[in-house]
Amino acid sequence: MENGSTLKKKYWRFRRNQEMNMSPEITIRGVRYMIMSKLNKSDTRPVIPLAHGDPSAFPCFRTAQIAEDAIIHSIRSAKFNGYGPNIGILPARRAVAEYLSQDLPNKLTEDDVFLTVGCTQAIQTILTVLANPKANILLPKPGFPYYEAVANSCHLEVRHFDLLPEKDWEVDLDAVEALADENTVAMVIINPGNPCGNIFTCEHLEKVAKTAKKLGILVISDEVYDHLAFGKNPFVPMGTFGSITPVVTLGSISKRWIVPGWRLGWLAINDPNNILKEHGIIDCITRHLSISCDPSTIIQGAIPDILGKTKEDFFLKIINIIKEAANICYEGLADVPGVICPSKPEGSMFVMVKLDLSVFEDIKDDVDFCLMLAKEESVIILPGITVGLKNWLRITFAIEHLALEDGIKRLKAFCERHSD
Ligand SMILES: *Cc1c(COP(=O)(O)O)cnc(C)c1O
Repeated sequence: MENGSTLKKKYWRFRRNQEMNMSPEITIRGVRYMIMSKLNKSDTRPVIPLAHGDPSAFPCFRTAQIAEDAIIHSIRSAKFNGYGPNIGILPARRAVAEYLSQDLPNKLTEDDVFLTVGCTQAIQTILTVLANPKANILLPKPGFPYYEAVANSCHLEVRHFDLLPEKDWEVDLDAVEALADENTVAMVIINPGNPCGNIFTCEHLEKVAKTAKKLGILVISDEVYDHLAFGKNPFVPMGTFGSITPVVTLGSISKRWIVPGWRLGWLAINDPNNILKEHGIIDCITRHLSISCDPSTIIQGAIPDILGKTKEDFFLKIINIIKEAANICYEGLADVPGVICPSKPEGSMFVMVKLDLSVFEDIKDDVDFCLMLAKEESVIILPGITVGLKNWLRITFAIEHLALEDGIKRLKAFCERHSD
């Protein structure tokens, strides 16, 4: 008798889903692991992680105590042990609406808010809802590769517009107009910016809204780094312009509270003219959420306290640490040969720097650079190709200051050693 593994392939009736693209999806996590696999185990120095947008492991980035207490209370109350509704429990949705409304001219209600498993599921939800045959979506370049991955998996065509480094990474709005056609459904912006560390001005956001209005498309605004702004421009939510064109805001507590593992995010509708409702988009969001999974009820139960009671001094402390880190990073990079930083980061946790490969003797491209850097200096940086810009680097500066200084020093030694 043949055993299972020697039976002919034709015997088994299952096949992998042919629709799923099997070429390796470029994900930040995947590339980061590939680079980490090059680390030299005999290097006794600590590894410096400058590729990771999750500083929760550093003691100085511990979340607010009020947030920890809120979770404990939620558990102890014994009120949040059951299933919740698909769109999230009412007090939590109301708390998110109030939290977002603080900065908005048109106030949101609980009906405008859907709770999701991190901002990740909010991205998945809105793209799936918009993915009709032939539809296309405009994404920023550089950007956040998860959008491409989701768009590919739901057959939504992707077109890229540039963010302009010489203009503080503003959207190339002419390119947006040139790219759009009658099948374009939406454009995505990420503000504060990942990977660029920029903050869009209020004037620019208004222009984005007017361009979208002109094209008849909605704006999806990824504000997962909301309020992490420490430069000249204040953070302004895109929802401010929801009366010009419909705006779907995506967010979570992952970054501002530094708890990405808690998996609580949201999708919020800024559309005082009810255009999305009239087009069935809101119904479709509810339907999509009814067949996907929802965030743990324990965390939903804690959300009113987390959003409502976290004190300003926690946010200030975190902003100050990140702002000082951005300074250390920007000033440190100024005298690293072969590395050009077009603008000082003013928000989020990242900066994009350009490689001048002509300076180096033996480095082929950004991936090569990052692999060699990991091997020789135990410093992990993300190659720009991962976020759509070849021969650039994305550096995360949200780590402890001493480690950051060490990392920049090693980066400098590496670049000096490889330049002629
Ligand atoms: C981290 C991140 C997300 C995902 O957020 P989660 O809440 O962890 O799911 C989405 N968009 C951008 C731009 C991010 O940096």
